[in-house]
Amino acid sequence: MDHKEILKSSKLSLTSHRIELLSILSNCKQAISEKELEYLMNGSCNRTTVYRNLNSLVEKKIVHRILSAEAVKYKLASGKNKDGKKSDHVHFECRRCNTTFCMEELSVDDYKLPEGFTKLENQFIIFGICKNCLNEQD
Ligand SMILES: [Zn+2]
Ligand SMILES: [Zn+2]
Repeated sequence: MDHKEILKSSKLSLTSHRIELLSILSNCKQAISEKELEYLMNGSCNRTTVYRNLNSLVEKKIVHRILSAEAVKYKLASGKNKDGKKSDHVHFECRRCNTTFCMEELSVDDYKLPEGFTKLENQFIIFGICKNCLNEQD
């Protein structure tokens, strides 16, 4: 699916900012921070517009928002859960190389909240040492 189709299938309007955000994110193998994203958008729109558009992409689960230790990071969802139906998954952040991984095979339980509370977003992150860093050690 190209970026326009992703937006269309999520019933989001095709704005140039959204398309630009998606193409930046799809060029990044790693999750990138808000600061880096802003920098890569290169001042083509103001911060408020960047965040408004990011939020709509996060809500549709096209983009993952990860609250990591040092920054809020964003990552484009992989093909299999772009449909937005999949449940939230676990993220893993390596304390050594700061890489954030999407562990899409590990889903986050849909916790039953007390009455009157509404979930907007799940965040589940595990901090540890990734296998690349572990291999470097020995
Ligand atoms: Zn690592
Ligand atoms: Zn993810």
